[in-house]
Amino acid sequence: MTAPDQPPPSRGANDARALGGGEFQRCEGCAAVHETRVFETTYEVCPACGHHHRLSPERYRRLLLDDATFAAWDTHLESADPIEFSADVPYPERIAAAQRETGARDAIETGRARLGGHDIAYGCFRFAFLGGSMGSVVGEKVARLFERAASARIPAVLLQTSGGARMQEGIVSLMQMAKTVGARERLRAACVPFVSVMLGPTTGGVAASTAFLGDVNVAEPGALIGFAGPRVIEATVGGRLPEGFQRSEFLLDHGMVDLVVPRAELRAALVRLLGHLRPPPAA
Ligand SMILES: [Zn+2]
Repeated sequence: MTAPDQPPPSRGANDARALGGGEFQRCEGCAAVHETRVFETTYEVCPACGHHHRLSPERYRRLLLDDATFAAWDTHLESADPIEFSADVPYPERIAAAQRETGARDAIETGRARLGGHDIAYGCFRFAFLGGSMGSVVGEKVARLFERAASARIPAVLLQTSGGARMQEGIVSLMQMAKTVGARERLRAACVPFVSVMLGPTTGGVAASTAFLGDVNVAEPGALIGFAGPRVIEATVGGRLPEGFQRSEFLLDHGMVDLVVPRAELRAALVRLLGHLRPPPAA
């Protein structure tokens, strides 16, 4: 099954940075203004300060994967409305709007691909779709990614960015945490490697399930990674948090991630890791 490229996604986070009718973009890190085509060549990393802006799954594919090797899995899966949730608008309408805006069915794409010649089971969250939240579709696709990686004996590489569990699915979204972790543990039992890549932000129920369970845990520079946000923690403990708390570099210093890799070096780093992490032949 070969996936066609998704329809052109909206510029998403870039819209807020656009100036001059889209000709220029402002950096969210240092406020420098560069031509939009400069940010396109750097995959949205600021050439002045190195700030990593959000990148779509389509562009991560182009950045990381060998050309035309991505074959999508489970593109037909769509969310149900298990608790008939409605806030300002009913949940099915929120889903439909997110689908129109992003051209995607839900907040993750998964598939088989090659990276530097290595066959992998590959997944990438889509933050532009309801904040990359993990509901039943995301959880199911992550679980199937691990199961397919185990049965094909190919490493799993999962890029995560998420606000956490999808509250519109209530307890069903929290169940995805146990389901994805269970599938990850079966992958471990099969001695097939998992490389977790955390993008900014990776928080809530996704941070508390598979994100830190890689055999190697990689993060992009400056990414916000943690369970509860800093303001919630400060309000709970009644004090100030240290500088850089919950950022990639802080987590590296404290042993929670193994590597912080700039986006421009991410493909080379993954190729190097995959060269070391070969699954043994099936018993
Ligand atoms: Zn900058």
